[in-house]
Amino acid sequence: MTDTDTYVLRARRVLVSPDAPAIEDGAIIVRGGRVAEAGPWRSIKAQAPAAVRDMGEATLLPAPVNAHCHLELSHLGLPPFLGAGFLEWVRWLIAQPVAEFSPAAVRAAVAQMEASGTAAVADIATRKGAEVAAVLENATLDYVIQHEVFGYTYDDSSFTPVPGGSLAGHALYSTDPEALRRAKAWDKAHDKAFSMHLAEHAGEVELLAGGAGHFADFVRQRILPPGFAAPGMSPVAWAAELGLLDESTLAVHAVHLSGQDIALMAASRATVCLCPRSNSVIGVGRAPVRTLLDAGVPCCLGSDSLASAPDLDLWAELAALLEFCPLTLREAGAMLSANAARVLGFARLGTLEPGKAARVAVLPASLEGALRD
Ligand SMILES: [Zn+2]
Repeated sequence: MTDTDTYVLRARRVLVSPDAPAIEDGAIIVRGGRVAEAGPWRSIKAQAPAAVRDMGEATLLPAPVNAHCHLELSHLGLPPFLGAGFLEWVRWLIAQPVAEFSPAAVRAAVAQMEASGTAAVADIATRKGAEVAAVLENATLDYVIQHEVFGYTYDDSSFTPVPGGSLAGHALYSTDPEALRRAKAWDKAHDKAFSMHLAEHAGEVELLAGGAGHFADFVRQRILPPGFAAPGMSPVAWAAELGLLDESTLAVHAVHLSGQDIALMAASRATVCLCPRSNSVIGVGRAPVRTLLDAGVPCCLGSDSLASAPDLDLWAELAALLEFCPLTLREAGAMLSANAARVLGFARLGTLEPGKAARVAVLPASLEGALRD
């Protein structure tokens, strides 16, 4: 089937956009790789071309967008222990060959994403942005490489993303606040999303609150400048004060949030990227997903790297989330695709409205009963 073919997809349920209820017995006309029309089969069938693919009892929805990954770490695999906490995980990670690069491992990771129907990825590059981009160039995924600003010593090259890419900050405990602000300003000026790990684990909260704790001791020995003074506030409050949170920011993890943090997050209109399986593998806790959603915070899903996720299948991330947070089909569609596409600037993805790319996913049968209407 080539891009110029015209055909119709018909299914029991079609979620065109999370902004409207799913269409029962719906259909999509695809022309030249784009959605030409979407609606109830009864109104589509009169104009339908001869080629109709009836997907039967399936639910069709916009293909997933992986909002947070680190493909350059694809050669690592999971730690030999699970759920031991962030400090143990990061001690393990830095003892691994993180600076090595395996094109074959990245290709295999990208193939995993393609096989599970992912349409796009936002990938954090600490060292190997150009190399990862070269692999993604030959894949079916839309992508953005987010060049990561890290540490307290940096120069202008720290603010030079790969062509077409953007900047990300690592975290408030690892990166000079001034560098984070510069990266955010660069993204803003170039109409790109800014992304950073935020409120991922308890040690981060403890460090920023008062500078105490095992994690604080660890980063003080390794990365914090001698005069570092804890801001005496939560990660979200500090990020807000630094001007890092707005509608084009992706706050990744957002596990440890107070009620006040959630209100701040909602007021900022920033998007939260949930990484439920990474949180579980590392052992940092669970994000307050229902409270975030009820507060109106847009949420999306990321796999994180293969050093903290067993694979890069976003359906598995959704399944992990559903274990502790029931969702409607529309909430799932917003998280899997629309919210990430919007904040990351994947303009042709996110919904199945006319004009969008016909990147149509089939909800896995195992999730059919798991999502409320
Ligand atoms: Zn990450």
